[in-house]
Amino acid sequence: MSFVANRENFADLPLFLELAEDLGVDSVAVTPKFLLFSREDLERFYVSARTIEAKLSSALKNKNYSFSIRTTGLEPYPENDCFAGAVNAAFISASGLVSPCCNLGHPVPRYNPRWQKPKYFFLTFGNVCQRPLDEIWNLPFYRDFRQKLSQGRVPLECRGCHLLPAKKGFLG
Ligand code: SF4
Repeated sequence: MSFVANRENFADLPLFLELAEDLGVDSVAVTPKFLLFSREDLERFYVSARTIEAKLSSALKNKNYSFSIRTTGLEPYPENDCFAGAVNAAFISASGLVSPCCNLGHPVPRYNPRWQKPKYFFLTFGNVCQRPLDEIWNLPFYRDFRQKLSQGRVPLECRGCHLLPAKKGFLG
């Protein structure tokens, strides 16, 4: 079972864990709601990872749940990569398009308060139906993209993405 924590459901996290135990699930994932499409989204849904983590810790205190718990996005932000792990992983769409992450592969609008509007970036480096993945992975402009991220530089397409390291992202 997966819990996408946001301001509206946040208080129910302890109940969610109880429910998971009652249902006998093997594994529970807890993650913040990453995608924000507008200022209204930000105000309505945003809860910091630190707050979610504190809530999760308190909900687990003195409990002995039988399921495993996986968190994504509650850990400290990576120093020189993003939460999508784009330096070491790729997103491949149903039609075979290879992108650094699902944000850039769909594309999903990203809201950044500084811009006051969502940004849409779409970035793909090739299609695995036409070319082997390792060839696409090693294309110079894809290597350059990953090198920038791994050096803590922000590729143009990633600007404003809140999955960046906190010091470079906008929400932290
Ligand atoms: S930082 Fe770039 S590669 Fe990473 S999730 Fe954001 S848009 Fe994708």
